[in-house]
Amino acid sequence: MSALAPFPGTAFFHKGQRSPVISAMGKRLVAEGCGKYREGPGPVWTEVDQQSYAAWQRKLKFAGADANGIPGKTSWDRFRVPKAPAAPTPAASGGRVASPVPGKGVTTAYRKKGPHWSLGYHTGADYAAPKGAPCVAVRSGSIVRSGNDGSFGLFLVLRVGGFDFWYCHLSERTVTRGSVKAGDKIGEVGSTGNATGPHLHFEERPAGGGFGSDVNPTW
Ligand SMILES: [Zn+2]
Repeated sequence: MSALAPFPGTAFFHKGQRSPVISAMGKRLVAEGCGKYREGPGPVWTEVDQQSYAAWQRKLKFAGADANGIPGKTSWDRFRVPKAPAAPTPAASGGRVASPVPGKGVTTAYRKKGPHWSLGYHTGADYAAPKGAPCVAVRSGSIVRSGNDGSFGLFLVLRVGGFDFWYCHLSERTVTRGSVKAGDKIGEVGSTGNATGPHLHFEERPAGGGFGSDVNPTW
């Protein structure tokens, strides 16, 4: 499947708007199992498009105003670039891990709102854990970037298909480049950069996407 048009802005999606972008969106919603169309999607924005898009937002686990059926950039970007199937490696077939920090769950959710985040919301999911706790590759892929940033501290970027997973605030990087398998240790939890205590900030973006192109981390 090819990518849809870049996000045209929230104001684009209003009653009576007619565009090939809207038919392409409808077809993709149907492919995602979110289409509520009785006669198939068309080029004019209707209430049914809005209901269908709301189903997509809920599928991304958005809620409240984030699931009102009017496309926003985050849900659109997640939608317009389909997630590429992972390369069929032995690890990918049986090795999908439960957490990027084994044994730990999310302690600060993705998209939580707050004034101390530069975009007004949390761009990833946090996993609080003691310094030195292992961080593992959530899927088989490749470490394509690694560095030290004022905000994210020591970080690694794991690319899987068309998406990047960012591991931030690390105390150690075990792997800084190249192929890894699901479950391989790639670093250790820390509090480098702008962090108040040891945790992994785990963020997902379309491959190569900059800060603010985040999507709900799933793997
Ligand atoms: Zn965070």
